[in-house]
Amino acid sequence: RSMASGLATRRAAVEALTEERETLMQTVSHDLRTPLTVVVGHARMLQRHAQDPEVLRRVDAILGSTSRMTRLIGDLVDAARLEAGHLALRLEPMDLGAFLGGWRDRLACGLEVDRVRVEVAAPLPAVLADAGRLDQIVGNLVSNALKYSLPDSEVHVTLNVEREGGGAGRQVLRLAVCDVGPGIPAEELPRLFERYYRSKDAAHAEGLGLGLFITRKLVEAHGWRIEARSELGKGSVFTVVIPVGGAASPSSTAVA
Ligand code: ADP
Repeated sequence: RSMASGLATRRAAVEALTEERETLMQTVSHDLRTPLTVVVGHARMLQRHAQDPEVLRRVDAILGSTSRMTRLIGDLVDAARLEAGHLALRLEPMDLGAFLGGWRDRLACGLEVDRVRVEVAAPLPAVLADAGRLDQIVGNLVSNALKYSLPDSEVHVTLNVEREGGGAGRQVLRLAVCDVGPGIPAEELPRLFERYYRSKDAAHAEGLGLGLFITRKLVEAHGWRIEARSELGKGSVFTVVIPVGGAASPSSTAVA
């Protein structure tokens, strides 16, 4: 048998496995979500009717945990779907400034939004984006910034427009999420966007190591790119670079 047909067979086998994993993840996630929905339903019921502050505090804890669990299950399904190449974006022209303005209300659940400051340079040109996926991109970056920074420190989300290459290149929007925290060692930066990658120091925080993998895939699916910069002892900045009027070269970079 020729080498080419051997390779083709192997590629087909890998594709079949990837599809199988996606189907498995969808089945498992559905089976996990069903009892979770029951738990959330009962907790909401208690929240409406309970008077005792102690009971209400515990109900809040239950709802906080269930919403984190819902997110983790969603991440597992998304990772499998992205890997199988089965993610379709619903692109529409969007005003990212207005989008970020309303972001706080949409994603407030379970995040310490009071620590987040949003600064948007106005006016900005519209870009094509999938609103739901953009929520996910910003949500992942902000929740990491909150999770891996100093308690009570501020997280800044900024949106600016600039020209690449010192003013001569094309126009891009830069959506940056900036935190004050321990930062990330330079040798780890290139690995952050890999599937299941977590730094040694991240063990204390809840997570599967899928957030940045999914974020990168979603950013690239839009034709944008994502960059990570960090300074030890100071903090980190994750920037999504969005070309105005057309897609960027679909690559991601990590720079120290
Ligand atoms: P998770 O948060 O589930 O571990 P992610 O893919 O979101 O997975 O992030 C991968 C790793 O990158 C994290 O485990 C953490 O070590 C590191 N990381 C991500 N964001 C930051 C940040 N803002 N500051 C410091 N480290 C970060």
